[in-house]
Amino acid sequence: MQLLARCPKCDAGLPVDAADAPAAIKCGGCGRDIPLTVSDALRADTGVDRCPVCEGTDFYIRKDFDPKVGLTVVIIGALISATFYWFGRDLIAYGILASAALIDLVVYGRLKDVTVCYRCHSEFRGSYPRTAPAFDLHTADVLELEYERRIGRR
Ligand SMILES: [Zn+2]
Ligand SMILES: [Zn+2]
Repeated sequence: MQLLARCPKCDAGLPVDAADAPAAIKCGGCGRDIPLTVSDALRADTGVDRCPVCEGTDFYIRKDFDPKVGLTVVIIGALISATFYWFGRDLIAYGILASAALIDLVVYGRLKDVTVCYRCHSEFRGSYPRTAPAFDLHTADVLELEYERRIGRR
């Protein structure tokens, strides 16, 4: 399983291989030492039970979507269709815009799910079964506040 540990101080994402994760990592952004408590389930890639960064046990599932990729497809589609539009080929222009949107949808549908920690936003990628529920805004509000108080951000 691949972890993306989130630095509590500067929010930098730090990739760690759970199978041989060290007891602590150093943040490349701010130099802070971040202790990791990697559970057996995380090491064996069988499930996400406890967050190694904040030791929280509340997670949610979201699509592993890179917004930059989707945006690039839409922008390229818009540029090409603008060219056709310029030459009076409206129908082709609309067709290209529609297919750019469609490509986005297809890409989105094929994405794998990633598990995210409610408190510190660390991410967990691997072949383990996804058991966490979908994102809930109220839960996020409560848990993020609790975590930020604990690490002294508020
Ligand atoms: Zn940092
Ligand atoms: Zn966490």
